[in-house]
Order: sequence, then C-alpha cells, then structure tokens
Amino acid sequence: MKKYNFNAGPSILPREVIEETAKAVLDLNGIGLSLLEISHRSKDFQAVIDEAVALFKELLDIPEGYSVLFLGGGASMQFCMVPYNFLDKKAAYLNTGTWANKALKEAKNFGEALEVASSKDKTYSYIPKDYVIPTDADYFHITTNNTIYGTEIRKDIDCPVPLIADMSSDIFSRPVDVSKYACIYGGAQKNLAPSGVTFVIVKNDALGKVSRTIPTMLDYRTHVEGGSMFNTPPVLPIYAAMQTLRWIKAQGGVKEMQRRAEERAALLYGEIDSNPLFRGTAATDDRSFMNIDFVMADEYKELEADFMAYAQSKGMVGIKGHRSIGGFRASCYNALPLEAVQALVDCMRSFKNNL
Ligand SMILES: *Cc1c(COP(=O)(O)O)cnc(C)c1O
Repeated sequence: MKKYNFNAGPSILPREVIEETAKAVLDLNGIGLSLLEISHRSKDFQAVIDEAVALFKELLDIPEGYSVLFLGGGASMQFCMVPYNFLDKKAAYLNTGTWANKALKEAKNFGEALEVASSKDKTYSYIPKDYVIPTDADYFHITTNNTIYGTEIRKDIDCPVPLIADMSSDIFSRPVDVSKYACIYGGAQKNLAPSGVTFVIVKNDALGKVSRTIPTMLDYRTHVEGGSMFNTPPVLPIYAAMQTLRWIKAQGGVKEMQRRAEERAALLYGEIDSNPLFRGTAATDDRSFMNIDFVMADEYKELEADFMAYAQSKGMVGIKGHRSIGGFRASCYNALPLEAVQALVDCMRSFKNNL
C-alpha cells in the first residue's frame, strides 16, 4: 500500500534526495569510495559543503556579512549557544510552545531572560500579539513555527533589538528577509535533511559582544573561522541537505515552496473547517502551514481511535497528535506532495460518510 508520510520529524524528504544520498553512500561522484569513508577535508567533501553553503545563500537571498554554519548538537544545543554568544545582561523571549520554553529556560542560566509574552494560558494555541520588546535587551528570541502546537509566525517582524529565530520546522518554506535577523538556526530533520546536522545563519558583526569566556566549540566564531570544519562535521546529513537544496532550487525556489505550502494548508484546513467531525486547535490567524493540528469535535470525541485506525488502513503515517494536545497532527513539510494531503482529506470525508 502507498504510504503518506506526515511524520513530524525526522520526516519526509524528496525521494530524489534519498536516492542521491544512497548513491553517495555507495560511491561518491564515481571516486570508488563511500561518502562515509573519506576525509571531511578531501576536495570531494569540501565541494559538498561549499555547494550547501552557496545554495543556502542563494535560496534565502542571504546578504553579505552573514555566515552559514553546519554544526552538531541539534536545535537544542542552540538553546545554549545563543545565550552563550549573545546574552550579556538581558535577553527577551516569546514563549509560544515547548521548544520556545526550552530555549527560554536555557537562557536563564546566562543572565536575565525575560518572557515578554506567553500563550501557555491557552495551551499555546495562538501567537501573542500585544507585547513590548525591551529596547535594552541584547536580543529577542522567537520560534517561527511551533511544531507541536501548530502555530506559525510567517512574517519577519520589525524588532528594535537583534532578532534571533529558531526556524527548525519552517526553514525554506517561504522567503525570509534574513537582514532582519542576527541569527537563524534549526535542526535539519524537519524540512531539510536527516537528523544530525544543525544549520546556523549568523550575522558576523553581531558576534564578540559578550564579556564571558565561551568554550571553543560553543563559540560561533570558531565555526565561522573554521568554515564548519573546526571539528569533523556531520558529513552524511550535510550531503543530504545539499541535495535537498538542489531539489528546492530545481522546483523553483522558496517562492514555489511557499505556494505549495499554502495550497496544502488551504486544502486540509478547508476540510477541518467544513467537516463537522473535526476541529482545528490553533487560532485561525496563527495556523501553521507546516504542522496542522486537529482533534475530533467534542460530540465525536469517542471516534478518535476509530478514525486513527481508519486513516492508518488508508496509508496515513505519523498523524498522531503530540501527547500534549492529543488528536491529530499532519506535518506538511516541503517534500510532501499535495496528493498526500488529498488522500488524508478523502479519508476524513469517507470516514464521515460511512458513519
Ligand atoms: C524539533 C525542534 C527542536 C529540537 O530539535 P533537535 O534538533 O532535536 O534538538 C527545536 N525547535 C523546534 C521548533 C523544533 O521543531
């Protein structure tokens, strides 16, 4: 049976990316050696990382003066690297979900970390709007897509202090005005590559402004200077990321990714809103295009397990909602074809019609 992959992360990648990566694992560029058994400093691998960096810059139209890094440790490591490198006295955080909250918690180890607003009061189902960013903060941290709660900030906000964003689950799903940010980071395993690599886009002249000593490996400057080669970088996920970036470019770039994301979201939210069995959990204005959360309407609550079993029997994979809100979550990342969303929508309709 055909499987439709709605996994939240690690998650769907373009088939071509998996095939090209598999080929490189067997024999990279016909050199007679695997990608896995050559030096990261060899010219064959240097060409891979160079192309990945160049495609990042091209696809996101990254201005001069920024570096693109590929590091280990996941987005979770960035929760401490960001305050290590940027928090001198005080930082401001927008608390929009589990990941945002973890980032905030980590920052508190480094100085004053102010929660300017939180949507925890309503199970993180919306993005707070009325908040004031203190102008004496060293930076303001946001999570642009809340992977668990299905809310998203799709606008590059104006910010009076350096803006830092966790874009783990929506990078490359829309054009981003990188010039508005001092730093953008994310784990690759949602929309870019297999797990194991973390991307960081950092404004070079925003670095070096804190008074503390930073351990070498946690200092962004180490990796800017070393071209992500201070230590051995995660070569396999970087290779796959490079292939994904080639794929995005061939499909028409981030504008096309945005068009597809809008199309998928309109189709699925349309069904959620019109099918009496279901209801969305996120505030309509703040709905994510990447992670679409829904539950059974109150009067049909007891049908949740039945719908799950039915959807699974039709090939839907990974639609179980996160344990913190239950119900369903359809992650609709760049590589997910519209056809998969149509199959889920058909499932929701036929389940209702068969009642
Ligand atoms: C998955 C996720 C993380 C955690 O990423 P790791 O690479 O597992 O550390 C952080 N932030 C967001 C928004 C995520 O979706």
